[in-house]
Amino acid sequence: MSKNIQEALLDLKARQEAGEKMPCPRCGRDTMKPDLYTNALSRHADGIYVCDDCGTAEAMLDFMRNPLPLECWAQFREGEATADFKAVPGEEALKTIKAEHVPRLIRIFQQWKAGTDFKALRITAMKECPGLTQIWEEPFQALYTVADGEIVIRFRENNDAVEVAADHLTKAK
Ligand SMILES: [Zn+2]
Repeated sequence: MSKNIQEALLDLKARQEAGEKMPCPRCGRDTMKPDLYTNALSRHADGIYVCDDCGTAEAMLDFMRNPLPLECWAQFREGEATADFKAVPGEEALKTIKAEHVPRLIRIFQQWKAGTDFKALRITAMKECPGLTQIWEEPFQALYTVADGEIVIRFRENNDAVEVAADHLTKAK
């Protein structure tokens, strides 16, 4: 473990114990319960609390002998996209979605048009597009939950070309 991370962990522990409200250090989402000690104690970061989902994930990965390295915790990553857009503003998420997910979804849409079973394609889509919340076939559209609302990506065929429309639906304030 690098010295930087060790120091960051001590700092994190102090802040958690002082009752500072912060996102889960492992996944970076706003999933911590207000009472620190009702959250899960990390199996890998001494004395650090993580959210219940991460506690379960740690137990699973341990079981598979494949723990998530501390370097990969949200708390210790900088400027890197998370696999989940729930804490990411829609505008930001849309960039990743357009650059990485849309080409994959277009391919999936074309396979669906060619007659491949949607259920199988849905599993592929969820696997290849981390952060994808839901996908439907009629009409063919993908939904992402983002920090400030939802993003809907719609696909349709027009003279052999695939048309893609993206809408960012912001939460009513
Ligand atoms: Zn977490």
